[in-house]
Amino acid sequence: MLRAAILVVSTTAAQDASTDAAIPALKDVFTTDGDGKWDVAETVIVSDDSAAIQKSILQWTDAVADDEKLVNLIVTTGGTGFAISDVTPEAVSELIEKPAPGLVHGMLAASLQVTPFAVMSRPVAGVRKRTIIVTLPGSPKGAKENLQAIIKMLPHACLLAAGMDSRSLHSGGVGKLERKAGVTGPSSCQGHSHGNHGHGPGHGLVRHAPPADAVQASALSSDPSLGPTRRNRASPYPMLSVDEALACIEKFTPGVIECQRPVNQDLVGFVLARDVYAAEDVPAFRASIVDGYAVVVPKHADEDGASKSSNRTLSGIFPVTSISHAAPGEAKVLGDGEIARITTGAPLPAGANAVVMVENTVLHSTTEDGQEEREVEIRAANVRDGDNVREVGSDVRKGHLLMQKGERITAVGGEVGLLAAAGVQHVTVYRRPVVGVLSTGNEIVEHTARSPSELRLGEVRDTNRPTLLVAAQHWGFATVDLGIVVDQPQTLEQRLRDALRQVDVIVTTGGVSMGELDLLKPTIERALGGTIHFGRVAMKPGKPTTFATVTVKEASRTSETATLGGDSSSSSHSTRRSVRAIFSLPGNPASALVTFHLFVLPALRKMAGEHPHGLPHVSVVLTHDFVLDRERPEYHRAVVSVGADGVLRATSTGGQRSSKVGSMRGANALLCMPAGPEPLKTGAKVTALLMGNIRSDL
Ligand code: AMP
Ligand code: MG
Repeated sequence: MLRAAILVVSTTAAQDASTDAAIPALKDVFTTDGDGKWDVAETVIVSDDSAAIQKSILQWTDAVADDEKLVNLIVTTGGTGFAISDVTPEAVSELIEKPAPGLVHGMLAASLQVTPFAVMSRPVAGVRKRTIIVTLPGSPKGAKENLQAIIKMLPHACLLAAGMDSRSLHSGGVGKLERKAGVTGPSSCQGHSHGNHGHGPGHGLVRHAPPADAVQASALSSDPSLGPTRRNRASPYPMLSVDEALACIEKFTPGVIECQRPVNQDLVGFVLARDVYAAEDVPAFRASIVDGYAVVVPKHADEDGASKSSNRTLSGIFPVTSISHAAPGEAKVLGDGEIARITTGAPLPAGANAVVMVENTVLHSTTEDGQEEREVEIRAANVRDGDNVREVGSDVRKGHLLMQKGERITAVGGEVGLLAAAGVQHVTVYRRPVVGVLSTGNEIVEHTARSPSELRLGEVRDTNRPTLLVAAQHWGFATVDLGIVVDQPQTLEQRLRDALRQVDVIVTTGGVSMGELDLLKPTIERALGGTIHFGRVAMKPGKPTTFATVTVKEASRTSETATLGGDSSSSSHSTRRSVRAIFSLPGNPASALVTFHLFVLPALRKMAGEHPHGLPHVSVVLTHDFVLDRERPEYHRAVVSVGADGVLRATSTGGQRSSKVGSMRGANALLCMPAGPEPLKTGAKVTALLMGNIRSDL
């Protein structure tokens, strides 16, 4: 515990202590915003008298006998204005050995957010001996706001001033300090596009003192430790349109990382980060295209051009002097007037320059045992130099561009085949992010937890985790099952911290609405020091969808997951900071699946270097009337199928309430329905976002 002293400087309060309101206001800040670190050990009231002020302070700073009694912080309140009697800053300045203009700046900056009259305050701050002294204004409201502006940083300063080793205190850098103090730096979509930091709709036009949590830089969420009575009753997060939310994801999702991968079946889905050139010629040798006989077409036949040689007929009886099978090894050189039996794909014997198909030949004589061909009659018209021969490099030329940066290796197989054929054994691709899926909620149990019909009252089978794991894998991303976590701040924080070490993108479900057990936003902002880029989207379902990023030290990732992500490059010993994305999706199963496809998928695809990031969209015709939501655009789960006429038609999967799991069954598309009062009629055209393959009505 740190010990604080409050010195009230007020001639009125010195005469009648009951008039003082500053002490309770400041005590409240130490309790509410002090994270349990403060003990307000002393409170004293003096009049606006320089000597009295100094005497009180010196008792706490210079006359301390034992360490137990050390006062770490003295806050004075009052006497900092422009009145003739205001002498506190001067009295305190004389005692300060090390000024702390940063604290002064911090207080003034916070006050100026509240009122321009903050320029009327003349605070000073600094260190005497092992104690920090700060002068606060006299009005309880102003004093409170000023203390709130710096209280998160004060424990750190007090420990250093008291003599703690700064090296151990600073290990982990400013990021760790911020997280410990529960503060974060600036920057988020809502800050940029709305500029309305920290004020819920209820605050209206009047500039209001920042709520206790607004001083925590970007923390908008309620502090869960304050309980249900003091939670936000209106979401403080600005409502973004779907397009704004997508732009925000595009902006804050981490970029691509290159890595080397072997060319094999695990390469499916990867996007090339570099152009790929053929490592060798295909074919690597002159090969026969057919089963037949390698022959020697006299050279001169072709020398004068195709027109003369086109009439050429190669016929007669030839000795079969060798055999060339499609197998490695040397073939015998073929002399003039000799032929060699040859199979498809086999190397042409040296000397041969064309192949005649077996269909154009007749067996003339055999060896004595009848097992082998001795002579074969060739009956082929128009045989030319090069007939039925695949020249070296005629399919792929060594060194030529084979595939381009940005191309994706499909599951159809063509790309892997091409790379394999051309001797390309490794390629540089973009790492594919690893996705972790976490379900939250005290009520959630494993879907296999109990026998059917034996759930206890209130228990709900985990639907979202299996659903999202399947969906992520379908889109070609490796997944980590992060299990289920209860709605308890420390447990949730620990599980998220563990997850940040294992995966690139965390997808949670549940816990993002307005209940007191909806802990995702506060945990991300307050415990993990993350930035929430948006916490509300104008859409149905999925309104509370939340997107955040957290900066972590890359070295803390285990090598096991680095491999999972496809990172066989050697970057394990670097301690680079990198960014992890967290998507906190609503708990209702239909909402979770819709928002996964709409928001999580584009982030994953961006990180993997895929284009486009969003789902493919097509125009479809409605097979029945669709009721619209009056206020929010709706993403309606539907089945899109193609008929004999080639037209794409969409049919609803049924009731669209966000908890209705059946609405996901069979759905291969999300219909983009506008908000509106009237239903959309049969035959109307809308855009469908395709999540799966189009069904066939045939
Ligand atoms: P929440 O967003 O946590 O308030 O949850 C909203 C609703 O979704 C509640 O009825 C939850 O029980 C339900 N829910 C949350 N997570 C899951 C899950 N993983 N599987 C099935 N239902 C869930
Ligand atoms: Mg919940």
